[in-house]
Amino acid sequence: MTARQAAISAIATHRVAKTQDYLKDAGAVIYGSYVFNEGAQQKYLAKPIYRKLRQTIDGLGPLDPEIVDAVAHGVKEWALAHGATHYTHWFVPMTGSTAEKHDSFLTPTGDGQTIAAFSGQNLLQGEPDASSFPSGGLRATFEARGYTGWDVTSPIFLQVEPNGVTMTIPTAYVSFTGEALDFKIPLLRSQEALGVQALRVLRWFDNTTAERVITNIGPEQEYFLIDRRLAEQRPDLLLTGRTLFGAPSPKGQELEDQYFGPIRERILAFMMDLDRELWRLGIPAKTRHNEVAPAQFEMAPVYEATSVGSDHNMIVMSHMRRLASQHGLMLLIHEKPFAGINGSGKHNNWSMATDGGENLLDPGNDPHANAQFLAFLVAVIRAVNVHADLLRAAIADAGNDHRLGANEAPPAIVSIFLGEQLEDVIAQLEQGPAAASKKGGELRLGATSLPVLAKDATDRNRTSPFAFTGNKFEFRAVGSSAPIYWPQTVLNTAVADSLKQLADELDKLDHGDFVSLTTILSTIIKANKQVLFEGNGYSEAWHAEAARRHLPNNRTTVDALPALTTTTAKALFSSFGVLSERELASRVEINWERYVKIQDIEASTAMDIASTMILPATARYLGQLAGASSSRGISAVSERVSGLADALVDRIAALERAQHAAHKARSVQAEAKAFATEVIPAQEALRAVVDELETLVADDLWPLPKYREMLFQY
Ligand code: ADP
Ligand code: MG
Repeated sequence: MTARQAAISAIATHRVAKTQDYLKDAGAVIYGSYVFNEGAQQKYLAKPIYRKLRQTIDGLGPLDPEIVDAVAHGVKEWALAHGATHYTHWFVPMTGSTAEKHDSFLTPTGDGQTIAAFSGQNLLQGEPDASSFPSGGLRATFEARGYTGWDVTSPIFLQVEPNGVTMTIPTAYVSFTGEALDFKIPLLRSQEALGVQALRVLRWFDNTTAERVITNIGPEQEYFLIDRRLAEQRPDLLLTGRTLFGAPSPKGQELEDQYFGPIRERILAFMMDLDRELWRLGIPAKTRHNEVAPAQFEMAPVYEATSVGSDHNMIVMSHMRRLASQHGLMLLIHEKPFAGINGSGKHNNWSMATDGGENLLDPGNDPHANAQFLAFLVAVIRAVNVHADLLRAAIADAGNDHRLGANEAPPAIVSIFLGEQLEDVIAQLEQGPAAASKKGGELRLGATSLPVLAKDATDRNRTSPFAFTGNKFEFRAVGSSAPIYWPQTVLNTAVADSLKQLADELDKLDHGDFVSLTTILSTIIKANKQVLFEGNGYSEAWHAEAARRHLPNNRTTVDALPALTTTTAKALFSSFGVLSERELASRVEINWERYVKIQDIEASTAMDIASTMILPATARYLGQLAGASSSRGISAVSERVSGLADALVDRIAALERAQHAAHKARSVQAEAKAFATEVIPAQEALRAVVDELETLVADDLWPLPKYREMLFQY
């Protein structure tokens, strides 16, 4: 039996293990039990300390240095009561994953004993040796110092492992010179920038009660799960997260029988474990279902404040990975693990709200008459139009390049879908005051036993990268593996820019002068309406139409990243204090480097597999064919395989040459370009030969688990 066959027969006898006591561990009981949440804070902190801490958490003032020691003591007692032995400052450097270094609470007392100690300073500030995190040229590698600072807004939580517990403190991460080296700092800065401008607009509308405007995020997360025993036989999956080779399965997603289909026992067991684990961590996991592609799934949480929701999405991804292993599965969170079937994205549902809970993107029943809503809506439209290229750049990376623009994901052209109702209101407003709003209605199903359904005023559009969905926008083009901080940072900053422009205009008007407001909004609509598109974003016609409208269409990362280096981009990020020019430049540099590294790893992995797995299998098969009868059919196959073997060797060599040439480029941008235009096509050409061989070489000789196995056997 080959390793592939052994894995498949093991899958057939796989039984789901019971790991949860679901009667005891009801969601309401376990929710937040691993989090230093309000309940825990009240229990472990004296009342005045608790109150002051909440003020800071709610964004109403800086942290009072006087209370830090007391908070540290309280949170330590809480953690110890839960069995914690260590604490860590947890942060999100620009590697795309999270980072943590653990310290134990243990402190020797000099008499041969120890106590558990944790000071305010331990809570506030950490200093990881940071030399190996990407800094995009902000520092030389020998300049190692970096600091982490406690992000009070994101709750402290426990990482509970079978063998111990670590108290985990979400932090922000800066260099010795004070420059942001993480995803968190610019997000928080962009949040504040947007908040300031949004409040100015609200004040014009005589809202005097709101003290803050925040943004909310609800990221829907798509992912694949496949059996680990199969995945482990694929070096490409292990090293690059996607299959670099693989002939299409005769059955893929064409029957559409996976989408929302019944969830297999083994997957549901994973999902149930995941939900409970997330609930314990105070992450409001809400929705779970099968997605379009075979072996593809989705989870969505209830929305939260953006900084918290972004941290939570990192935790979701890492828990998915860990739990998948425990279930004998492998999580594939790459944007395109399998060619020819759908890839995975993240749909970032985004809205702005006051601290009082008013959703500024809620149109209400009569959007045409809701001037405040229209002002915010128009500001978002302008932001997305003016800064479309930046939003595109914010979601650009090697993985997402496989997805954007393909017939399954939003195109690389950034446009806005408003839906019938708002499209109509905006069209009216362009001409003058809007007079009416189209209404939803009722749906009668033709059988008296069935209920009358409420019909929304607007249908959905899943081909739009930025779609209005009722009372929020859905940024649908984000990659499944991406930390969501950066796209949200760019969006917040772009919207802050629009709100500022609007507030500057409003400052010149009397409050309540809705006639002049209408004129202002109408002018903004006229200047930005080219970004509105209600049709099919997948169609060729849209590409032509978008070109006619002069909308940017940056198809790849290499095309998209330069937008971040324009004068406009620099001025935008620095004027709102989100990123200095140096910080922005370092981020762009990291993006280029990351792109090159990913393509380089993929090319090397492809050559390795082709040379050491595919070529030997092909040679063995040719040997078998040569030893078989000299029938006409066998000779014909042999000749074909032999020709492909020649092509295989040639294309491995061609890929190696292309990779070598790319390495000689003078700048990282030139290298990235060489990878995009020379190496990727060479790798694709190699893939074509390998995939054809897969359809010819004897199944028992083929070394890689096949699509039909990975996608359907789990
Ligand atoms: P829909 O089906 O309209 O996309 P769902 O209820 O499925 O809406 O929500 C999808 C995601 O959007 C969830 O994470 C949800 O919590 C989030 N969401 C809902 N309302 C808002 C809002 N006002 N702001 C941000 N996210 C929201
Ligand atoms: Mg949705």
